[in-house]
Order: sequence, then C-alpha cells, then structure tokens
Amino acid sequence: MAALGLKGITKSFGNTAVLSPLDLDIADGEFLTLVGPSGCGKSTLLRIIAGLEPQTAGTVSIGGTPVDHLRPHERKVAMVFQNYALYPHMTVFDNIALPLTMARLSVFERIPLIKWLSPRRRKVMEGITRDVKAVAEQLRIEQYFDRRPAQLSGGQRQRVALGRAMVRHPDVFLMDEPLSNLDAKLRVHMRSELAELHSRLKATMIYVTHDQVEAMTMSDRLAVMDQGRVLQIGTPDEVYSEPATVTVAQFIGSPAINLLKAVVRGDGQIEVGDAIWPLRVSQEAGPVTVGIRPECVRLSARPGDVTLPAAFRRRENLGAESILHFETAVGAVLCKASHGAEHRALAPGHNASLALAPAECHVFDSRGQRIRPSQIQTSSASAALRHPTLVGTTR
Ligand code: ADP
Repeated sequence: MAALGLKGITKSFGNTAVLSPLDLDIADGEFLTLVGPSGCGKSTLLRIIAGLEPQTAGTVSIGGTPVDHLRPHERKVAMVFQNYALYPHMTVFDNIALPLTMARLSVFERIPLIKWLSPRRRKVMEGITRDVKAVAEQLRIEQYFDRRPAQLSGGQRQRVALGRAMVRHPDVFLMDEPLSNLDAKLRVHMRSELAELHSRLKATMIYVTHDQVEAMTMSDRLAVMDQGRVLQIGTPDEVYSEPATVTVAQFIGSPAINLLKAVVRGDGQIEVGDAIWPLRVSQEAGPVTVGIRPECVRLSARPGDVTLPAAFRRRENLGAESILHFETAVGAVLCKASHGAEHRALAPGHNASLALAPAECHVFDSRGQRIRPSQIQTSSASAALRHPTLVGTTR
C-alpha cells in the first residue's frame, strides 16, 4: 500500500475545463471519498490517477514517486467500476485470475493447448490458483468459480470485480461508484462489507460516489467536489458540522440543511424575519444565509433558544422518526423529530413556534462562504428567556 499525491492537476476536454488546479494528499491506508453531484469531475480525476486519461497539467505520485509516465497496468493501482467490467464469456475464476495470468504467463503460455505441454505454465497456474482462492475466500465467492457473470446476482458480480482488483495486491484501490447498480438493501450491506474489507486490508482506497450517505458512512475523509473544484476536505464529522460553503452544507446531510434568508444589520447582528438573533458577525451589512440542520430544529424552546413562527404543512413518517415540513417567512424548514407526543397534535395549517439554538446555526455570506458568528452571551439561560430583547426579539 502507498500514499498518493496529486499536485496541480487540471483537465480540459477541448476548450472545456473540467478540473481546476487541484492538490490532494491521501495517506497510506486511508479511505478517501470523492463526493459531489454528477458531472463535477470525480470520475475524470479517478481515471487520471489510474492512467486511463491524461491530465492537462500536474503530477500524480504514488508512494512519493511521480507515475505520470507509467501506463495504467504499470501503476500498481486497481480500479473497480460501476458496471463491474467482467468478461461475460469467462468463468468467475478466470475473471479473477486474469490480471495474474496476464502478468505471470507469456503470450505463448496463454495459448490453451500449451497448458498440457509447458511444465512452467503448470507451476505458475498452481500459484495463481492459490492466490485466487485466497482472495475468493475473503470475499466468500469460491462456490461460484465455475459460473459466468450472467449467472450471478449484482452483489456477487461486484464481489468478483473486487476480487479481480484485490488479487494484484495493488498499492491503491480506485472505486468508481461500485455500488450504484445494486438495490438499496444490498447497497447498505455492501457498504459495511467494503468498510470491513478496508480495515482488514489496510489499503489506500479512493472511492467515487454521488451518494452522500456512502461518503459519510465509509470514509476516513471525504473531499466534496463541485464544478471541477474541491470545496472541502475533512472527516465526515468535520464536513457535516463545519461545512465550508453553503454548497457543501446542502450536499452533505439528509434531509438537507434548512437555509433561511437573513440580513446582517449595521451593528453586525443577524436579523431573521422580524427577529434579531443573538449572533454577531464582522461583516458588512447585507444579505446572508443562516443554515440549520433539521435535527437541530425543535418544537419546544430550551433556555437560550431563538424562536421562529411557522405554519405546519405535512408530516413524513419514516418509521423511527418523522420529518415535519413547515413554512416560515424566511424559507421552508424541515424538522427531524423522534416519535413523541409533541408533534402528534399538529395538523396542516397549524401555527407553531420553532426553537433553534444560535450555537447550532451556520452563517454563510452572499458568496456562500461560511462566516463564523460570535454568539452574544446572555447573562444566564433563564435571563435569556425573560428578556425578549436577547432572544428572538419581535419588532
Ligand atoms: P462525475 O464523475 O462527477 O459525474 P465526470 O468526471 O464523468 O463527472 O465528468 C465531468 C465533466 O467532464 C462532465 O461535464 C462530462 O460531460 C465531461 N467529460 C467527461 N469525459 C469527457 C470526454 N471524454 N469528453 C468531453 N467531455 C467529457
């Protein structure tokens, strides 16, 4: 396994720039996910690392050594594709063994008839069989050795594709949306299998997905991309709780973050609708956006909370919890609520007072960049509730 470095990578197709200058360092054994909407350049970047697509500028290094001059099979990377890319006429065994037969047998020895004539071939094949069996055992696919891909389920095919990547013991695994052809239940199962495989192999893995749940659940770090740029790199927790831009905040998290229209007043305080919230920014007066995660919106206020008048629209029942849809003067608000009696009485059209903790609000400037507000301290929690000038003042 090895670390991977990208320095100043750009890519244009003709006059169309697809990747802006991009630097990224991935540690040895790290699971890094490139996540972002379709068309943002994730697969192009993966193909550049694999050597399947030349970059316009910049350097790819593996284990500290530039590999730009190496062809894909010389780079010690293995790629797993969304469509599995298995050979339909070959058995499972032959598909997994293929990278080894290509590397260890001469063109002459690969001719079927030679099988019986070349003692060296027999010996090499014994080694290949041992290696293929070891990988197949880890993935629990030995029983399908004689089948062809068409005789396997989607999950089994994906395991065969993984086996074909693992058998070469590559320095870096590159995975391009490998689970997106599987049904929802199998995807959840394969997610945990992949995460488990990563911790067992301690392999450097770069995983591409447009699915933020996959990115959040499997990665050591994720790089959120949009329009050919990396907007933020961090652990799933960092990216979720400290989104660098409004685009990152919107992309990561389900249901998506609530975005409220707000303004910065001349004194730096933030005004949301008719209320002045106890948040101050060192920012010129003008429009900003306040983001609040649906799980941070409550129906009953705690000391220090601000409140937001809202009209209830509908309830989405997700089993263990509900998503409550509200309309406010500053934008639609979703609230993730567990099953309590609290929201059972709400009927469409009812008015409610939503409660939010200022410390849980994210503020973004008019360009969508995060700005850090300072919270105006109330003298005590109970005082905050007693003095409406400090909490959600209604003018
Ligand atoms: P993602 O993997 O994030 O969905 P891609 O890397 O596949 O995005 O594509 C990024 C952009 O590059 C898209 O706008 C796509 O249309 C364009 N693109 C990809 N490959 C080519 C190509 N061979 N020729 C021209 N444009 C391409």
